[in-house]
Amino acid sequence: MTEPAPHELQLTAERMRQLGHQVVDLVVDHLTGQRYRPVHRRVEPEEVDHLLTETVPEDPSDPGGLVDFLAAEVLPRSLRLGHPGCFAFIPSANNFLGVLGDLLASGFNVSPGAWFVGAGPAAIEQVTARWLAELLGLPAGSGGVFTPGGTVANLTAVAAARHDRLGDDATDAVLYCSDQTHPAVLRACHVLGLGDSVRLLRGADHRLDPARVRREVESDRRAGRRPFLVLANAGTTNTGSVDPLPELARLCHEHGLWLHVDGAHGAAAAMTTRGRAALAGLAQADSVVVDPHKWLFQPYEIGCLLVRDPATLRRAFALGRFRARAGYLDLTRPSPDEVNLSDHGVQLTTSARALKLWLSFKGFGVTAFRAAIDHGLDLAEHAAALVEHSDELDLLAGPSLGIVCFRHRPRSAADGPDLDARQHHIAEAVNGGGRFLIATTTVHGRRALRLCTINPRTTAADVDRLVTDVLAAGRALG
Ligand SMILES: *Cc1c(COP(=O)(O)O)cnc(C)c1O
Repeated sequence: MTEPAPHELQLTAERMRQLGHQVVDLVVDHLTGQRYRPVHRRVEPEEVDHLLTETVPEDPSDPGGLVDFLAAEVLPRSLRLGHPGCFAFIPSANNFLGVLGDLLASGFNVSPGAWFVGAGPAAIEQVTARWLAELLGLPAGSGGVFTPGGTVANLTAVAAARHDRLGDDATDAVLYCSDQTHPAVLRACHVLGLGDSVRLLRGADHRLDPARVRREVESDRRAGRRPFLVLANAGTTNTGSVDPLPELARLCHEHGLWLHVDGAHGAAAAMTTRGRAALAGLAQADSVVVDPHKWLFQPYEIGCLLVRDPATLRRAFALGRFRARAGYLDLTRPSPDEVNLSDHGVQLTTSARALKLWLSFKGFGVTAFRAAIDHGLDLAEHAAALVEHSDELDLLAGPSLGIVCFRHRPRSAADGPDLDARQHHIAEAVNGGGRFLIATTTVHGRRALRLCTINPRTTAADVDRLVTDVLAAGRALG
């Protein structure tokens, strides 16, 4: 092949293959070597500034050298979220088949938004969403749409609920959720113009109290306001708590409210027997969000909104409702048996993000995913058992859907700022070692150490070592 001209922005086939191999080797080294590197180290802004600040690169450089630069200097300056010692946030242990799915999606650059444009990827999206709905136990006929993540999936759900229950006029709208609701979800409500509509309710044990919600709904109705949505949590990010879904479903049914369940972290657990029991009532929701880039081990970005009645999405979002002078889109008008997925959400052009989930479900088999999720539930139970066996540790929340919160408390210590500061110092000491990363959080007003144990490559021995480190750090504080 002759050398492509610069304006073609193209490499020779041979060079593309070489670079592809180089990148794949780097990714494989990363995926297999994380355990042997530090989970995290702090990056000073000056340090990256020094590395990256330069003038606009008018002239070409060797791409192989640039790839090596990114792999050596840029990508390692990140938290290793898939490191078996990462217990902070929601770890994301991605899988190589998922990575290949993303490579295919971006290499072929297909978009499933319109049937005319990406029929094959759109069909994969529909099939994969139906699998997910079935795996979570949602009723037949459920469907959904993939999104960049849980934030946009929740935003899409709230907008669909608003349209379904209130039409285009959201005057005096009210929605109910607990104070444990994820801030990104509250921000989504704000973006939708519903910031003042949110009733943020505090419940015992981090769960919504259905009797309290009922009283609020009735009093809002009496005052002439328009309740339309209960936004429940199925696995809060803080403690993994689950709102009482069956009672909330009954309440919503009686009052004509939409029940939405944010299961961005927790819903995937419904694929297992234990998780299904913890998430009883999930199937009665009008909509459920699950984030495959969390507990389904996919690379970022992929979230998913599942709805009992996909027609509700079409009615809320069909582009035809908004078509101004867009004759250029006529080619993409679907025939009655074709689906334009962009009519089911808020994005037009999207990447074919379901390819990675399809490829990893098929390639590993869903039984392996169930086992991986079960392993995460086992590790949380194991951590909680270690905490309960120690007379220096108090269990504060969980284990619930892979999350455990506890604290170190010397026998004589009482609640208060000193005990709270102790947790902070312990987390700092443990994290400073580079083997583990744990977070602190607040549980019932008390500072806690928080573990999220969903990485399938984390072992019970890792959890043992972590608890040993916590105890050692606690004792070192006296
Ligand atoms: C992570 C998370 C979100 C936000 O999802 P993103 O994928 O980060 O956009 C929302 N709700 C819950 C419960 C989460 O855990």
